[in-house]
Amino acid sequence: MLPDWQKEINRILLLIGSAGVLGIVFGQVLLFIFVAVVVYLVFTIRQLRRLDKWLSALAAGDDMSPPEGYGLWGSLFDGIYRLQKRQKQIAGEMQSILDKAQESSAALEIAFVLIDKSGNLDWWNKAGETLLGLRYPDDRNQAATNFIRNPIFADYFQKEKYDQPLTMNSPVNSNVVLEFQLATFGERERLMVVRDISQIHKLEMMRKDFVGNVSHELRTPITVISGYLENLLENLDSIEPRWHKPLQQMAQQSRRMENIVRDLLMLTRLETKAVTRQLADVEVKGLLSEIANDTNHLFEDKQHKIEVICPAGLRLRADRSELYSAISNLAFNAAKYTAPKGHIVLKAQSKDNSFDISVTDNGVGIEAHHIPRLTERFYRVDASRTSSSGGTGLGLAIVKHILVRHNATLDISSIPGKGSTFTCRFPLTRLVPAPA
Ligand code: ADP
Repeated sequence: MLPDWQKEINRILLLIGSAGVLGIVFGQVLLFIFVAVVVYLVFTIRQLRRLDKWLSALAAGDDMSPPEGYGLWGSLFDGIYRLQKRQKQIAGEMQSILDKAQESSAALEIAFVLIDKSGNLDWWNKAGETLLGLRYPDDRNQAATNFIRNPIFADYFQKEKYDQPLTMNSPVNSNVVLEFQLATFGERERLMVVRDISQIHKLEMMRKDFVGNVSHELRTPITVISGYLENLLENLDSIEPRWHKPLQQMAQQSRRMENIVRDLLMLTRLETKAVTRQLADVEVKGLLSEIANDTNHLFEDKQHKIEVICPAGLRLRADRSELYSAISNLAFNAAKYTAPKGHIVLKAQSKDNSFDISVTDNGVGIEAHHIPRLTERFYRVDASRTSSSGGTGLGLAIVKHILVRHNATLDISSIPGKGSTFTCRFPLTRLVPAPA
């Protein structure tokens, strides 16, 4: 079968041919051919007008059936009609998917908000209204940062570093605590997921308060018990020998309890205290030398060689006492978990992307599978070894908290039997530039 366009050409040739033959008969060949071409043009223009009318009606939403067409035009109209029907069917399917997504997300208590590439609110589910007070369609196309007017949110939104969620009070109810998580997709569009975490937040506060209160209440009784025990140990001569060992053990355990309470109080303070804005320019070499001296003093009997490697004059913007606490915890651990006459290095250096303070020892080392869990509270590699060394299992949790408060991270590398390196990586922006 011939294709439609070829049939159409045949028809045109037939029309012109017939006009030519009639023209020969009547002696007016050109006139007859001209008339035939005009007739064909008129026919084509009529079909084009019908097509135009039909397409305009479709564009206006009028569901009109296609006009009657002849020849190539007929199949053209049919083709367009079939395409239009298919497109309507696809649009229907898309709408039903969209309806389902909207209905299911409306039932959720988590808000989903779509934000366009200019940072304007585009779409949200029902929970977006309850959690954030968004009103559809009034708030559509408003800048997200105009709607949630909180500098913390604006900062988080604009920095586009969404690996950690943002916790903030709800803009419509200050008693409600919300967690915002953003993700970018497509052409810099963003999906914002918002959860009400008031309950979790409340429990977390209760946990912190509880730990803080218990530690605080235990401090005095433990100090009293420790005091009496130390007194008794100083007067062992007047005590029956069978009591010597139990008294020594009691004193050792009460010192451990004192340390645990001290560390728990420190952790509670770090968790609840706002990050200090009054930072000092800490002279790093001086701080590391002080820590080296204190470590030597505390672990005198171990006779470690402690080395400080740090360019003079380097200064870091930090809370000095917190920084001392973090680095000294690492140095005391290095001394604790290294056999006598070990080698410990406290080193500070600027790298391409960070300023690093590291503590390296040639001690017992840590097996790789323990490393990711070391900063958890009370996590110990070897509980018996730790308790005999007076450890609380809280030291590295304290270090991590302090580092987070300084936008720094802790990196641990270790080879069992050979030693470990604990590196605190500070952002370079914390380094105080040397005077010109
Ligand atoms: P602890 O008070 O028990 O030392 P930390 O939180 O400071 O608690 O350390 C957790 C665990 O990590 C320790 O129990 C110990 O097993 C291990 N650890 C920490 N520092 C070192 C180190 N320098 N070498 C070997 N093991 C270490």
